[in-house]
Amino acid sequence: MLKRVPLIGAIYPDRVLHDDVYWIAEPLPAYHRGRVAILGDAAHAMTPHLGQGACQAIEDALVLAEHVRGDAGVPAALAAYESERRPRTASMQKAANILGKLGSWSNPVAVGGRQLIMRVGWERGAFKSVEADVRYGTRWRNAGSND
Ligand SMILES: Cc1cc2nc3c(=O)[nH]c(=O)nc-3n(C[C@H](O)[C@H](O)[C@H](O)COP(=O)(O)OP(=O)(O)OC[C@H]3O[C@@H](n4cnc5c(N)ncnc54)[C@H](O)[C@@H]3O)c2cc1C
Repeated sequence: MLKRVPLIGAIYPDRVLHDDVYWIAEPLPAYHRGRVAILGDAAHAMTPHLGQGACQAIEDALVLAEHVRGDAGVPAALAAYESERRPRTASMQKAANILGKLGSWSNPVAVGGRQLIMRVGWERGAFKSVEADVRYGTRWRNAGSND
């Protein structure tokens, strides 16, 4: 049997996190210099509206590992890592930022228009870009197995 709990009233104010959210507003021009590279939030901190910050950090780590495992040498491997990761993460940063702005609207007319555009946009093909994003990850499908 489900029991009703007055959820908001049950919160202890001193146990609620009140951290500021910081993000990099404009994508950085580079993610590496010489033999040093950055990844994750250090490279592309983004607003949380896409739920992609940690996901992109994990992808960074996997791609970085793929490149440094080769024979190209560290500076070339880091340059290859950067050229693969910067476009993808920069577009995620921008999309998260835009979604955050759209999500903060409160004018009922603007909100109605936003909802309509989001629904029509999704039905008319926005899912294709999601599909491409999902496909990006399938390259690691067998990672960790012995196949
Ligand atoms: C509200 C909110 C919701 C989110 N939701 C999602 C989500 O649904 N999905 C998602 O994918 N992402 C989400 N994120 C983003 C995600 O939390 C971050 O993108 C991710 O944690 C970044 O990982 P990171 O390892 O790059 O950095 P961090 O997690 O910040 O790790 C860096 C670590 O380095 C340590 N450190 C710093 N300086 C030093 C030093 N000098 N010496 C030693 N250690 C040091 C820090 O203490 C920290 O532990 C969300 C973020 C927020 C704020």
